[in-house]
Amino acid sequence: MSPLLAAVVALLAGLAASLLPGVVHAQPLPPNELGRVMILEYHKIDYPEERWTRTPENFRRDLETLYARGYRLIGLGDLLDGRIGTPAGTTPVVLTFDDSSPGQFRYVERDGRQMIDPKSGIGILEAFIEAHPDFGRAATFFVLPGASRPNRLFDQPEHEGRKLRFLAEKGYEIGNHTLWHANLGKYDETTVRGQIAQAQVWIQRHVPGYKIRTLALPHGVYPRDVSWALRGTAQGASYQHDGILMVAGGAAPSPFSRNFDPVRMPRIQAVERDLTYWLGYFDKQRDERFVSDGDAAVLTVPTARRDRLRSPLPPSLKVVER
Ligand SMILES: [Zn+2]
Repeated sequence: MSPLLAAVVALLAGLAASLLPGVVHAQPLPPNELGRVMILEYHKIDYPEERWTRTPENFRRDLETLYARGYRLIGLGDLLDGRIGTPAGTTPVVLTFDDSSPGQFRYVERDGRQMIDPKSGIGILEAFIEAHPDFGRAATFFVLPGASRPNRLFDQPEHEGRKLRFLAEKGYEIGNHTLWHANLGKYDETTVRGQIAQAQVWIQRHVPGYKIRTLALPHGVYPRDVSWALRGTAQGASYQHDGILMVAGGAAPSPFSRNFDPVRMPRIQAVERDLTYWLGYFDKQRDERFVSDGDAAVLTVPTARRDRLRSPLPPSLKVVER
């Protein structure tokens, strides 16, 4: 082969590699399980694209971009538990959907039967996962069981229960977002606890016994006393949350970092500008990016950052420096 031809072949091979989905990096990233993790926050999946709306096409493109750049889905519960088993060299990412608007999960009738709308958020996500099984299957839906239309449990009253059961059965998570999006900073303890307990009761009416582990604060506003949101009993129902999510704040610290605070979990709003910023940030600031070692039982950290580990760590975890 002539040098020129060889150069052209190499160029084309490089181009093909960069276009192939799933190609992470030419050089696999070294594990760094003290890096930060993006918790992405979606609202409406609908038209047109605007501040609180991502179009179905852009949402699908987000999934493609994340996948191609080596991100893999994990659940919020796994993040909270520090149980991260994504393949070596990949980066975990969490998807969250707030406010149960209709475009997130819709059934449509086709040929006389009900099917999930392929242009709704869950339809797009399920299709993407089917085509890329190694992407993982996880997302948390912070639903509003008692909101007015169109935010009441995805706005198809006849399918409410079916949707919540579908999410639970498929391994997605259902989170508490209060009964009807109450600004928890405005109310007394009785109302705050009632809003949280009632939301859980309404969800469990459809999915009996479902354990809700996380609360996303409406408007990102904390109640006067955070303990009201964490655990308690109201109107005959007991709730307990392992994590509380804010509406902003950037990428979350590693769950193994001493900066990780489950009561103040920051999120990144999944809009074009913020997504572009953070994807670019992690491309440049490689040391800041969580990269899995592929083994949920082993915690691999750069030696220089070992002092950032939180303590105590789960005793079953084996810490390895690199
Ligand atoms: Zn909300």
